[in-house]
Amino acid sequence: MTGEYGGIQKVQIKDGRFNVWCVKDAGFCFGVERAVKMAKDAAARFGRVYSLGPLIHNKDVVESLEREGICVAESLEQVGQNAVIARSHGLPPEIAQAAHKRRIEIIDGTCPFVKKAQDYAKLLRNEGYHIVIVGNASHPEVKGLLGFSGRDAQVVNADTELELTGNPARVGIIAQTTERIEVFARIVSNVVSQAKEVRVFNTVCDSAISRRENTRRLANFCDVVIVIGGKHSANTNQLTAVSRQCGTQTYHIERPEQLMPEWFKGKHSVGVTVGASTPEWITSAVIDRLRESSQSPVSE
Ligand code: SF4
Repeated sequence: MTGEYGGIQKVQIKDGRFNVWCVKDAGFCFGVERAVKMAKDAAARFGRVYSLGPLIHNKDVVESLEREGICVAESLEQVGQNAVIARSHGLPPEIAQAAHKRRIEIIDGTCPFVKKAQDYAKLLRNEGYHIVIVGNASHPEVKGLLGFSGRDAQVVNADTELELTGNPARVGIIAQTTERIEVFARIVSNVVSQAKEVRVFNTVCDSAISRRENTRRLANFCDVVIVIGGKHSANTNQLTAVSRQCGTQTYHIERPEQLMPEWFKGKHSVGVTVGASTPEWITSAVIDRLRESSQSPVSE
């Protein structure tokens, strides 16, 4: 196989024991990049800014951001009068209102694609639809969407069978932006069998779809796949699941020191895929380690 294949490319390694392939879209996705930039600008302007929960799902980056004045709080009580950055996942409206009451400035780092999903939730609620959100109820993005969807809204994930509550005639469906499209489609079809009028907004993000597709491509021809990203990152965990579903030996790591040389013994090709909140410097450090490992002689 030559240097490029769909969304993946070969890493240049001279006289290596195995080849390394990496997804081309490694690095922050558009929404995460935007939120981090807004937070840095706000910290430069105010001296300090808080995010409610970590700004992104990556411990190393959160620590380095803290040194730049971007701190993590669990609630508005911990923020004092400092400004708050809404993460790319968005904020539930009740938190935004509470901040407004306390005269706390909110910098809106909500990813525009998440914002679009929130707008659809508002529209469906205003038009009287019973709302179904396909996603993980404990994820901050879904908690935010629930806030716009009303008390009757239901959240359903890949592992649960949906039974509509209250026998609604009109149902509106949206998805967590990182949800798998096949799960979304299955639940839409399930709802269609239970309600007469169904309005669907496909809010799954293209960047999340393309990362999964590229991971599947890697897993289909590599002997081992390394997934880099936070253990709490929904999209990184999904990349790990996609690779494992292809039957490929897969390891999920957060930093380069976690790579084990024995994983690559006797292997010909190693794939690297990257979650949406993994910074480029961590990916580069992992690639450097893999290059060293490939070039080092090994005793079998
Ligand atoms: S994965 Fe998509 S929706 Fe989520 S923050 Fe990134 S660009 Fe936005």
